[in-house]
Amino acid sequence: MARQPLTGIALPDESRQIVELARQFAEDRLRPTADARDRNEDLFDTEIHAELGELGFLGMRVPERYGGLEIDLLTYLYVLEELAWGDAGVAVSVSVHNSLPVSILCNRGTDEQRARWLSAMATGEALAAFALSEAGAGTDAAALRTQATRVDDGWELTGEKMWVTNGASAELVFLFARTDSPDDRKGTRGIGAFVVEKGTPGFAAGKKELKMGQRGSETVSLTLDRVRLDDSCLIGESGRGFSYALEALESGRLGIAAQAIGIAASALDHAFDYAAERHQFGRAIKDFQGLEFKLGDMGARIEAARGLLERAARAQMADDPRKRRLSSAAKLFASETAMDVTRQAVQVHGGYGYSREYPVERLFRDAKVTEIYEGTNEIHRVIAARQLYRERGGET
Ligand SMILES: Cc1cc2nc3c(=O)[nH]c(=O)nc-3n(C[C@H](O)[C@H](O)[C@H](O)COP(=O)(O)OP(=O)(O)OC[C@H]3O[C@@H](n4cnc5c(N)ncnc54)[C@H](O)[C@@H]3O)c2cc1C
Repeated sequence: MARQPLTGIALPDESRQIVELARQFAEDRLRPTADARDRNEDLFDTEIHAELGELGFLGMRVPERYGGLEIDLLTYLYVLEELAWGDAGVAVSVSVHNSLPVSILCNRGTDEQRARWLSAMATGEALAAFALSEAGAGTDAAALRTQATRVDDGWELTGEKMWVTNGASAELVFLFARTDSPDDRKGTRGIGAFVVEKGTPGFAAGKKELKMGQRGSETVSLTLDRVRLDDSCLIGESGRGFSYALEALESGRLGIAAQAIGIAASALDHAFDYAAERHQFGRAIKDFQGLEFKLGDMGARIEAARGLLERAARAQMADDPRKRRLSSAAKLFASETAMDVTRQAVQVHGGYGYSREYPVERLFRDAKVTEIYEGTNEIHRVIAARQLYRERGGET
């Protein structure tokens, strides 16, 4: 089934055209090739990324003066949903690049740093990655141990990063390291944000993770062995990097919510197709009320997730005090929707849903990680609850 027409979304014409372009690209280029990327996990599809760059999708959040599309957050999220409808693994690569490094550079970089890197990031000539997590620092990201030591003409970095999306292919890695000294730890105020260019001596990509899903995306560890960087590679203040990471993640996780909705919408389309063509007891299975209940619920959940995501995006755009809670709520609800809808889509396919011949098997695997990365759903429940307390004037 082709993607359903873009209806019921209030977007200006120009934004609508960009979303339509993404929809077409997802339908013509991503969906037909998604299975191949899933099966060839060792390969990173540079051709698709080059096309994404040419179409402007790697510069969606980059200002026009640096060659970007400079589209608003809401349009950007609709584009991500479309790309994820085509292939979630490609969409996460685009989301990480735009939502995290681009946003940190735009919000916290100097004019010189923006001039140095943004144009190449906008065209996709320089794909970017975001390296916060480490083996011992996941949900508790501030426990990171990679050390940046002050040296005469800059910094020397040593440590290891884990789970870096785009990590081996990225030309630029936005990486977080401790800038405080081991004898005088300053907690979240002792972490700096650095830009490490590919090929810097001592900097190397390590093991590639073999994953349950989203296998078209590249997830690697990175090692830093006395990597020398000059001061121009430090973003903002040397002790404030952690707050820049959290700031980027707060709106960045809306990209993951959009991705989750795209996965769910794709699974629903496949479920409808199958339910119409599969016959049992002399009729199409879509005509059994038991399946109508399922399909109706799947569609309702997807629309609810879209509505919440739009509300969260508008809160971000308006700098509404509830933006943090809504951002966590949207990511939480959308990712659980993706899990629920893909599970039901497998069920609608019966035994065939369990076979790799049908894409719902892949979508079910692709959905799972949306509950894990950019903050697990447990931690988003904690954030949402604490924000609710605060909004009621309580201390947390
Ligand atoms: C495919 C993939 C891509 C990724 N890409 C990136 C990337 O590009 N850059 C990057 O920096 N990181 C990335 N990550 C890392 C990701 O953000 C972490 O996996 C995630 O934050 C969880 O950390 P963890 O895996 O160490 O789990 P842990 O933090 O060890 O959590 C284990 C379990 O304990 C629960 N838990 C932990 N603390 C609490 C608490 N306080 N309250 C309740 N429950 C809690 C968690 O919810 C989870 O269920 C990626 C991960 C994956 C799988």
